[in-house]
Order: sequence, then C-alpha cells, then structure tokens
Amino acid sequence: MTGTVYKSTGSWYTVKTNDGKVYECRIKGKFRIKGIKSTNPVSVGDKVDFKLETKNDQETGVIENIWERQNYIIRKSVNLSKQTHIIAANIDTVFLLVTLNNPPTFTAFIDRFLVTAEAYEIKAVLLFNKIDTYNEDELLEIKYLAALYREIGYECIGISAKTGKNIDQVKALMNGKVSMFSGHSGVGKSTLVNLIEPNLSLKTAAISDQHQQGQHTTTFAEMFDLSFDAKIIDTPGIKGFGIVDMDKEELGDYFPEFFELKSKCKFNNCMHINEPKCAVKEALDNEEVAWSRYKSYLQILEGEEEHYRKNSYDE
Ligand code: GDP
Ligand code: ZN
Repeated sequence: MTGTVYKSTGSWYTVKTNDGKVYECRIKGKFRIKGIKSTNPVSVGDKVDFKLETKNDQETGVIENIWERQNYIIRKSVNLSKQTHIIAANIDTVFLLVTLNNPPTFTAFIDRFLVTAEAYEIKAVLLFNKIDTYNEDELLEIKYLAALYREIGYECIGISAKTGKNIDQVKALMNGKVSMFSGHSGVGKSTLVNLIEPNLSLKTAAISDQHQQGQHTTTFAEMFDLSFDAKIIDTPGIKGFGIVDMDKEELGDYFPEFFELKSKCKFNNCMHINEPKCAVKEALDNEEVAWSRYKSYLQILEGEEEHYRKNSYDE
C-alpha cells in the first residue's frame, strides 16, 4: 500500500492512503536515505510504501520504502551532536507573510527567506498582509516591494486576513498543493489559516498552547487536509526557515536576478564583490538590480563566513 505521512510521534507514523484510509505505521529495520543523516528517517509529507500487519485485532502498517523526496526542510539541533532533523518533505509552496509594521518585516529577512526557499527548491510566494491597516504612503511602499519581487519572479499578493481581501487568490494558489505559512510572530499566520479553514483553528490553538506550557521542545510538523483540494503543513515554532548550509560561491545562484546575469560577468566564478566587469554590479549601477537585494546578499555572505568560522571545529 502507498500513502503519505501526516504526523509522526517518534516511533509511530500516521499514514493516509490516497482513498483516505488512515493507518498507524512503524518502521522495521533501518533506513538509509542517500546523502542525509537525520534523527528521523521518515518525516511528515513523505510518500511511503507499507504493508499491513494484524496483531490482537489491530491493523497497523510497516513502512518498507520511502519515495524519493521532491524537497525537504531540516533543522539542525543546537546541541553538540549537530544532528539533523527533517521537519517536512514534499512541500509545493511556502507562503511568507509580510507586514510593514506590527511587526515590521525587513527586506533582509525576506531575502534570507527567499534564498533558503531557492536552496530547498520550494516555490515561495509573498503575501503582504494587513493591507486594511495601511495609509497611502505605506500602500505605496507595498506596491514598490511587490513590484521589486515580482520582477525577480516571485508571486506577490496584497491581502487582509481580517477583511478577507484577495484570500480567493491565495486559495487558488493552494489548490491541489501542499502549502506552508511562514513569517514573523504577529504577521497574521493563524488569522489567515483560520479564515481559510475555520475548523482547523482548534488544532492550531491546541498546538500553540502546548508550546506555551513548554511540553514540547522539539519541533514537530503535522499535515492537514483542508475542505477544498489543498493540504497544509503546520510547523509550530518555525517563524522563518533557518538558513541552509551552503558554499559562499553558491549564494549568488539563489538570487535569481544575479544568477541570470552571472554568465555576463568577466569571471565565471565572479562573487559580484570587487571583480572587474561584473554584470551584477553594472546592473546595480543602472538600477536594474535593487540595492536592498545586493545589501542582503553581502550580509548573508558575511554571516556565512562568520558561521563557517564558528563551526570550523567540526568540519
Ligand atoms: P501569527 O503570530 O502570525 O499567527 O499572527 P496572528 O494571526 O495571531 O495575528 C496577530 C494579530 O494581527 C492579531 O491581533 C490579528 O487579529 C491581527 N491581524 C492578522 N491579520 C490581520 C489583517 O489582515 N488586518 C488586521 N487589521 N489585523 C490582522
Ligand atoms: Zn559578477
């Protein structure tokens, strides 16, 4: 049988088949997945093959195979073991909620998020929320930001999770897909999800309550089927995405507008910093590349160097 993992509680996995039957499954033996050493071999979102077992009149499943993942997101544990935990797999779209104030979302944060989405190969969409609260100047700023990110290739929608403005567009993008919602605390993630799927509110509330009581220190994700053809992965505690480990040389590839220009740089390993005849710096001078994006690029580069210095002992 084949199904998708909706939830995991340590050694048991809740797996749902395409025709909606739910089985509690476990793993027998050891799984080795190419290229990753993780604390959990199977994660929410994984497609798995399993066989049924009947014990004491209980029908449970044994996972025998994990399908190759389209993508997955991880979290590194902060303790010395540096173990990787796979949070979720096979995510189609990640929506980043952005607000200008209450709380402010800075372009540095947006760009960091987009870089991670590119590295994970997950489609990112920007939702500018709380547009019902903005004055004219702020609406102009939203327009500017949306134009900037659309030009690079990211879909941008101005929404209000309070009035419901443009929520139909968000739902249309979610149709037939697995989605995730991210953004700073207070940007309106729960309000938006509750508006899209009112019956889910209880679960979300229950989960965050548990967190406040400090019962769960590890991050766990859960997948939910919505009342229309859409799934969401709820990952309490994840505001952003973390930043993926990458080589400095790779970073420019995750800025799509830089990547497009790279072949026009004089040096094919151009980092777009001080090199002569750099197409990215020329585009910056011609205002074809945004300064905020370039600044984020340099900041992430610096941060990565810092990161590598700090972690060099275990590499
Ligand atoms: P979360 O931390 O991202 O889940 O944010 P919440 O959904 O809890 O929202 C934080 C606050 O912002 C709440 O008081 C919401 O009522 C409010 N809020 C969320 N979306 C909107 C919106 O589109 N317009 C307005 N005016 N308030 C909103
Ligand atoms: Zn260059």
